[in-house]
Amino acid sequence: MLRTNLRTFTRPQFIRGLASAPTIPKSQKAIIFYENGGELQYKDIPVPEPKPNEILVNVKYSGVCHTDLHAWKGDWPLATKLPLVGGHEGAGIVVAKGSEVKNFEIGDYAGIKWLNGSCMSCEYCEKGFESNCPHADLSGYTHDGSFQQYATADAVQAAKIPQGTDLADVSPILCAGVTVYKALKSAHLEPGQWVAISGAAGGLGSLAVQYAKAMGLRVLGIDGGAEKEKLFKSLGGEVFIDFTKEKNIVEAIQNATNGGPHGVINVSVAPAAISQSTEYVRPTGKVVLVGLPADAVCKSEVFSHVVKSISIIGSYVGNRADTREAIDFFSRGLVKSPIKVVGLSELPKVYELMEQGKILGRYVVDTSK
Ligand code: NAD
Ligand code: ZN
Repeated sequence: MLRTNLRTFTRPQFIRGLASAPTIPKSQKAIIFYENGGELQYKDIPVPEPKPNEILVNVKYSGVCHTDLHAWKGDWPLATKLPLVGGHEGAGIVVAKGSEVKNFEIGDYAGIKWLNGSCMSCEYCEKGFESNCPHADLSGYTHDGSFQQYATADAVQAAKIPQGTDLADVSPILCAGVTVYKALKSAHLEPGQWVAISGAAGGLGSLAVQYAKAMGLRVLGIDGGAEKEKLFKSLGGEVFIDFTKEKNIVEAIQNATNGGPHGVINVSVAPAAISQSTEYVRPTGKVVLVGLPADAVCKSEVFSHVVKSISIIGSYVGNRADTREAIDFFSRGLVKSPIKVVGLSELPKVYELMEQGKILGRYVVDTSK
């Protein structure tokens, strides 16, 4: 009877370390929603089949990014596919691949990231700005993502994860890590300079603190509450500013950094905090926009903007090289994932905590529970 539930791919490719092609079930557990803000259903859905250019990944763990919450709520001026399986920090094992795939073998570790695929022939793809491709296909947004046990990804964009890597620990690197690593590179800072991380103890922030340290920067973090301060300090952060307590945030940050940070990485979900970063940044400093709260506008007072000659830069995930480099920092032990693992079925609870700003570091879901 078991056989009726299972299917084995009939075109096994070169198989590394496996005696036979992995058995792939016909159905699997997933969290799916049918309308934005609608019920998050934990149920059985069909296992997708990889297209010729795709790999099928048996997702073991997936990080939960605030973007997944925005996608479910429908916060952004870009429609999601519906029904939708969210998730874009999926780490797992390749169990099948399409006929055109050359860069992955069955049994390899692979990551499902936000940029699931891009056209690879437009002006942006040509120059390595693949996330800016007008035909970008997004995991957990326009393409069913990693909150399921089996997910497909364009093999060209899927992340390479070294064999033997802890798949729960590496999962947040696939979006949060890559994004903050790229944002820090985009700020063009030099070792010894100050960087402020606004939203320093959240998923992106807790990784940004560590990448910044590894790049030789001095790190000031802004977030709210004693627990967040404790996490920030444990990750190597130098100065913490508690936005729930500090009355004059601009002055406090400028005093602590002898005139303002040289760069600011905005990973908070607070529009006011984003605008404020244009005030406390040091003259000639770089304000990097990463967090994407709904309907947010970054206000910068023009006189000061000009006289201080500051720059405001948007930074959107990273390309394939950024992904490889961000994973390499992780593999070398320079960056650790502050994660809490729960079952996939508990995703709605994680969203609740995230909405309330109560998450320390990153939640990761185990797709087997
Ligand atoms: P998160 O919820 O884990 O972290 C957000 C943090 O901001 C929390 O720790 C919260 O306490 C803190 N915060 C709230 N108000 C603040 C304030 N006034 N000042 C300072 N900190 C404040 O979220 P996350 O998963 O780290 O994602 C953060 C944002 O980044 C989301 O909007 C997400 O969509 C976005 N994002 C952007 C990209 C990109 O490519 N640009 C990639 C991934 C995520
Ligand atoms: Zn993300």
